[in-house]
Parts: sequence; structure tokens; C-alpha cells
Amino acid sequence: MKRYPVKEVTCRCGNVFETDRERDWCMKCGHPVYYKKSDQLFNKAAHIYIFSSIVIIFISMGFLIYKILDITTQ
Ligand SMILES: [Zn+2]
Repeated sequence: MKRYPVKEVTCRCGNVFETDRERDWCMKCGHPVYYKKSDQLFNKAAHIYIFSSIVIIFISMGFLIYKILDITTQ
């Protein structure tokens, strides 16, 4: 992991601490805190993308199972 000059970062829980790492963990709440704000936003977007993909997969699987059951019960 890259090292940066020590900078004060603010966690979303409000805890302020110094870090020199790209990603650090908040000592108070345990959430990841990013050196650059854009990384945090990107990470959030990636999480939303992964989450919605999983939801879509589950919905299609449920629909498929429903269809299979519908065919087999006939
Ligand atoms: Zn925190």
C-alpha cells in the first residue's frame, strides 16, 4: 500500500484522526476511512453496483425457480 504525507481525515462518524495510508480504519466505529474523498465515493458506488447486481441475480433465480416449479406441477 502506498504511503502519503500524514493528513487529517474525518470519518463519517465524526472521528478525526491522522493517517498516511490510502485506506485506514476508524478506531471509534471500525469503518474504512479513505485518504482521498474520491476513493470513498468510488467505493460507495462500487458497493451499490455489487449490491444491485446480487439483487438482480436473486430476482432472476427466484423467477427461474418459480417457472420450473410451475412447469413441474402441471
Ligand atoms: Zn468512525
